[in-house]
Amino acid sequence: MRCLCAFDIDDTLTCDDAKQMVQRCQDSNCDLAVVTARNTWNDYRYVDSEVEATFRQQGAPYHYLLDRRAAMKAHNTDDLFTAIARTKTMQLKELRDKGGYDRVLFFDDQLLNVQEAQRAGFETMHIRGCGFGDVMDLGASSRRCRPAYWREDGESPVKRGGRRM
Ligand SMILES: [Mg+2]
Repeated sequence: MRCLCAFDIDDTLTCDDAKQMVQRCQDSNCDLAVVTARNTWNDYRYVDSEVEATFRQQGAPYHYLLDRRAAMKAHNTDDLFTAIARTKTMQLKELRDKGGYDRVLFFDDQLLNVQEAQRAGFETMHIRGCGFGDVMDLGASSRRCRPAYWREDGESPVKRGGRRM
């Protein structure tokens, strides 16, 4: 039984309690991967340094959104958030097929991304309020988030729709 935990970065892996969830994946012998709408490969900004080191040591695959316009075109939509959700699900399929995983768990704070992945048959964990507390019992764990990439990104789509990736 091969298992993969695929993590969004902003407001998911940047959460203070992401470390526990990553540890839990490792304890369950699941591999790790990144599936982010950031547009730069290898960008772990605002992720806890220990968590980042874990991903790097494991050689975790890093799937990102190369080009927002290209993604919208590829998915035949004018909506960036739909394009992102579809791209992430496409990337999950790629990870599953290439790695031969029987089980893929996808962690993301955006409901649209989670729903799209669910429709494709993936197990999902919707991270709400920047914390994993509602999907695992972490007791008094912190819910703080580090700054998200888009908050310092001039091209941030948050200005358009008020939603985060
Ligand atoms: Mg996110």
